[in-house]
Amino acid sequence: MEGVLAGDRGVLAQAITLLESRLPSDRELAEQILEAIFPESGKSVRVGITGVPGVGKSTFIEALGTHVTEVLAEKVAVLAIDPSSQLSGGSILGDKTRMPKLSVNPRAFIRPSPARGSVGGVAQRTREAVLVCEAAGYGNIFIETVGVGQSETMAATMVDFFLLLMLAGAGDELQGIKRGIIELADLVAITKADGDNRRPAEIAQREFSRALGLFPLPPSGWPPRVMTCSASQGKGIAEIWDAVQDYARHARASGYLERRRREQNREWMHELIAQGLRERFLADPAVQAKLVELERAVVEGRTTSLGAARELLDE
Ligand code: GDP
Repeated sequence: MEGVLAGDRGVLAQAITLLESRLPSDRELAEQILEAIFPESGKSVRVGITGVPGVGKSTFIEALGTHVTEVLAEKVAVLAIDPSSQLSGGSILGDKTRMPKLSVNPRAFIRPSPARGSVGGVAQRTREAVLVCEAAGYGNIFIETVGVGQSETMAATMVDFFLLLMLAGAGDELQGIKRGIIELADLVAITKADGDNRRPAEIAQREFSRALGLFPLPPSGWPPRVMTCSASQGKGIAEIWDAVQDYARHARASGYLERRRREQNREWMHELIAQGLRERFLADPAVQAKLVELERAVVEGRTTSLGAARELLDE
């Protein structure tokens, strides 16, 4: 607890490991830590960063993180939500080897995605990790997700600002990214705007600007921007961070940031209730006694899913 508040990276890593543990005794301690650090949390800019594999996320985060830590001398924590890691057993996001410079930077803390648990569980652990990083003095939190699944909708429920990375001229304008995600974006950055790709990136920027202009103004009142960057050449990175800062100033002054976070806390409470109910239900001895038999009955077609679920819920 003192180690976290003192900003000790080793203690911070241990605290997050404790949050990810599934042992009931660890959970109890984790909740005590969360309650204790809660008053010290919240003082950061929380930025969600998403994009399909290969779009340049790790190179971008490395460049942006280096800008924030070295030029601005501020601290950055990089967390990841990667539900695919439960299948592969390892995490492709937030992997230190993908960000070699940032991972040895004393002002940066990089944490891969929790490798186990449901999408909701992984997202919840990340949400808790955000609070602990903030208490440890990280004023900038990046939450990295792959822009293909449920994870960025989850990320959107825990960040202040959503940054979508896209490639120019990759055929399909949406590149497998669900349409809804574009509407979540506060900023679209067209990556790899260098060499032969510079012109196409600029064209894509104009097209996306026009497309985003068709959407109604988001609740923040801050019109989403489309910018180009080249992370490998360090171009456009400072400008993108300036835009994030501009948004943060605007959202703080208007009271939107405060409202958004309160609303996120309310949603979080409901998620925790749903999760807690499910856990208690499944831990109930009467339910456990019947569950296996009823599962088999459903699989063998002797009863319906509906009937079996109702019987268990009635227990
Ligand atoms: P991720 O899978 O989204 O994390 O993407 P990476 O950051 O690993 O980048 C994928 C590939 O694109 C790598 O080969 C990078 O070297 C390359 N790349 C990333 N950023 C840039 C850039 O700004 N310009 C160019 N030309 N290539 C880049």
